[in-house]
Amino acid sequence: MNIDFVARLQSVLTRIRNAERRFQRPQDSVRLLAVSKTQPAAAIAAIAAAGQHCFGENYLQEALDKIIELKALSLEWHFIGPIQANKTRGIAEHFAWVHSVDRLKIAERLNAQRPDTLPPLNVCLEVNIDRESSKHGLDESEIAEVAQAVTALPRLRLRGLMAIPAFASDFDSQRRSFARLREQRDRLNVQGLTLDTLSMGMSDDLEAAIAEDATLVRVGTALFGPRT
Ligand SMILES: *Cc1c(COP(=O)(O)O)cnc(C)c1O
Repeated sequence: MNIDFVARLQSVLTRIRNAERRFQRPQDSVRLLAVSKTQPAAAIAAIAAAGQHCFGENYLQEALDKIIELKALSLEWHFIGPIQANKTRGIAEHFAWVHSVDRLKIAERLNAQRPDTLPPLNVCLEVNIDRESSKHGLDESEIAEVAQAVTALPRLRLRGLMAIPAFASDFDSQRRSFARLREQRDRLNVQGLTLDTLSMGMSDDLEAAIAEDATLVRVGTALFGPRT
């Protein structure tokens, strides 16, 4: 493998640190999640060797193969793909975080199946922030009720909200969608929750997400190159 993963990782981290400065965010307040779906274990190992610790996967079986193969590296695994009810056990047993919880039934299954030997599973609720029929996620009108119910589940720790906005190429439109997710997070915290995570921003729009308070950006292509 002759791709310079060290240079790619450095370049993404530089974009993140520059955006923190430009938008008056505290230094290191934004974490990088390396999205490794469809990428081979060897590419993940190369980015891990360059210092990256957290990786995001979308498909359970593919993820489990890589988690087992890379066990010795003690990486932190985040599940970010659509969740079918019959896949919750594998997620509850092998991941530290889930970003894509979009209905209470899934949260209840993850709670019931999270092993007692592991710390509570960190959870974000996925919000369909631009109301696209092609996308998963809660409607904004449903967030408060589901969030309160998830907070009561002892084996889950509700950390925040996640969204994949509609495609937009200009900065201001990108920023408007992210602002709505931030407002939803702020509203829940006013209602007494203590959410510390906004999972938003990808390879092409991470600066706009950081401008609107993203704490975790999910980056695939800019790190690994195009997916096959
Ligand atoms: C694939 C994926 C990403 C990464 O997208 P890039 O444009 O490759 O950076 C982020 N979040 C989710 C949920 C994804 O499925």
